[in-house]
Amino acid sequence: MIVTIDGPAGSGKSSTARAVAQRLGFRHLDSGAFYRALTYAALQAGIAEERWESLDSAALDALRVQARPGAEGWRMFAGDNDISEPIRSPQVNARVSHMARVPAVRGWLMGRLRAAAADGDLVTDGRDMGSVVFPDARLKVYLVADPRERARRRLAEHGHLAPGEAELAAEVARLLERDRIDSERAAAPLVQPADAVVIDTTGLSFEEQVARVVELAQRRR
Ligand code: C5P
Repeated sequence: MIVTIDGPAGSGKSSTARAVAQRLGFRHLDSGAFYRALTYAALQAGIAEERWESLDSAALDALRVQARPGAEGWRMFAGDNDISEPIRSPQVNARVSHMARVPAVRGWLMGRLRAAAADGDLVTDGRDMGSVVFPDARLKVYLVADPRERARRRLAEHGHLAPGEAELAAEVARLLERDRIDSERAAAPLVQPADAVVIDTTGLSFEEQVARVVELAQRRR
């Protein structure tokens, strides 16, 4: 059984997907981590953003991006370097959508993401997991939340528990810019699949949003 969770930046997809997977005894696949890892590895390799459009599969292979199982879920590697922390940096946040709109990058990842579903039940999250990568998923969820709430949660994750108005507004602008690029790109844009269940998490606690998805999955099983 495949459960997909898509939605805009900061809507809580990955943390929800991880908790739902744990509850159901499914595996979790965070597709955004791969786009982030490719972005970070390309920057580290000195490949300028202007050249990302022309990356081919040999150039992507050469970045040696890989997910390996760790004690608390998957870790992302570039070669032998564990890059799980730096792929969450503001530097990567600001550039990842530019990498993700390159059709060759999406094509390169498609096979890898689909292969991850070959050996069992899966909860996966991203932007196009229900619309493009797993169109036949048994349950598709689309998470939305008010941009200020998304910004507040994102800042809290990074330890800013009481952000000022300016800090909050700047984070809202960054999230909305990423959503704009993700929604407007030609290749696999962020869309709400017609057959998805939409959950607005603005007024929900984390526990409540996890429970809703678990309940939906149990009903469809
Ligand atoms: O979910 P996360 O914020 O980690 O995703 C980072 C970026 O990766 C997104 O803003 C988007 O550009 C890209 N992405 C994508 N398709 C996916 C998952 C992520 O284009 N399925």
